[in-house]
Amino acid sequence: MKPILELENISYSYHSLHGETKALENISFSVQEGEFLAIIGPSGCGKSTLLSMIAGLIQPESGTIRFQNPNGTCTYPKIGYMLQKDHLLEWRTVYQNVTLGLELKKEMTKENLAIVEQMLSDYGLEQFRDKTPSELSGGMKQRAALIRTLATNPQVLLLDEAFSALDYQTRLYVSSDICRLIKEAGKTMIMITHDLAEAISLADRIIVLTSRPAKVKRSLPIHLTTSEYSSLSARNAPEFNDYFNLLWEDLNT
Ligand code: ADP
Repeated sequence: MKPILELENISYSYHSLHGETKALENISFSVQEGEFLAIIGPSGCGKSTLLSMIAGLIQPESGTIRFQNPNGTCTYPKIGYMLQKDHLLEWRTVYQNVTLGLELKKEMTKENLAIVEQMLSDYGLEQFRDKTPSELSGGMKQRAALIRTLATNPQVLLLDEAFSALDYQTRLYVSSDICRLIKEAGKTMIMITHDLAEAISLADRIIVLTSRPAKVKRSLPIHLTTSEYSSLSARNAPEFNDYFNLLWEDLNT
């Protein structure tokens, strides 16, 4: 596998009238194509800053971010960003919400709309296409947000605490459900979470950041002995507790 993304010695500080806040210091890591990477770290350490930087929303103060596309070019890939809130628009129907990205990009082609139709059916939202977001459950809203994100066919998906607005039980189900769907679509995923169990049960690898300014403390590949891709069976895997204890110690020392 080739890395699709490489970060080399990334540093970043926020500047305000009250002074400087150093958020990231010398961060280096790479992400393989099709990999699911989780990033964890203490609250306020710089995780969202790092994700915004990968999304190209802010530029590093020093260091480089390189994307390597499968066709060999180094142009920025299409990025999909899923946030904590689903950001569905209440005045638009589910269908109008999931096609919003395509509409804004003027990509409402027959082929793209056929893909949306397929996803609405695959994700169990076909019968809800004319409903408004408030008529959907939390899990359904998150699925609609995912369809909207995937409709523009991003190569890399960034998830910033994308499931934390859901209640615990829904979250267990929706997180593994959505991550399975993204994985099946062959996308590269980078997820920020404060939930250790979520990171262990879903990701291929976990990067642990130190408290601010964030540095990479550990890069931990996850191998769980499970027969299926589900949050619950992952949590019952024999290796789960050892990973949990190791990461817990990392975050608390
Ligand atoms: P995390 O996602 O790990 O909780 P953030 O990346 O949001 O952390 O923030 C890292 C640090 O940078 C925090 O201490 C936060 O207060 C500070 N910060 C974030 N955004 C800004 C901003 N726009 N201006 C100044 N400081 C900021």
